[in-house]
Amino acid sequence: MLQRGPSQYNNLYKLNDTETEMTLNHQEQTSKLRFYCPCCGYRGLGQSPYERLHDPPFGDLGEPSYIERFGYPSHEGCHCCGYQFGYDDDLSASGSAKSFAESRRRWIEKGCRWFCGTDPRPENWKVSDQLSAAGIPDEI
Ligand SMILES: [Zn+2]
Repeated sequence: MLQRGPSQYNNLYKLNDTETEMTLNHQEQTSKLRFYCPCCGYRGLGQSPYERLHDPPFGDLGEPSYIERFGYPSHEGCHCCGYQFGYDDDLSASGSAKSFAESRRRWIEKGCRWFCGTDPRPENWKVSDQLSAAGIPDEI
């Protein structure tokens, strides 16, 4: 008969607690990634990209400066297209002020390369579905 002392039970409980904690943390992280990227439409931003630019449909947001029009940027980079709010649209920071439409066009022309290695592209992902979910005109 297998006998288990108190220390073995403690180890089992510890393992279960750790597993539960890891699952909760993953769910928590996933639920935080809920804001849409106004450039590519990916719903994977941890916060609103600009103070006054929140939910889709985005439509055509025109040319920068987005900071002047939409307020303080998050400085977050999109995991999908790589656009960084407050950098890519800021001439003084990046040396060029790229519009969402122009960045999106180049990103699509280059094959929609997924930017972030640690947040992999979802299975069955389609750029056209992503754009339409965010209300972004699909110009290509
Ligand atoms: Zn994006």
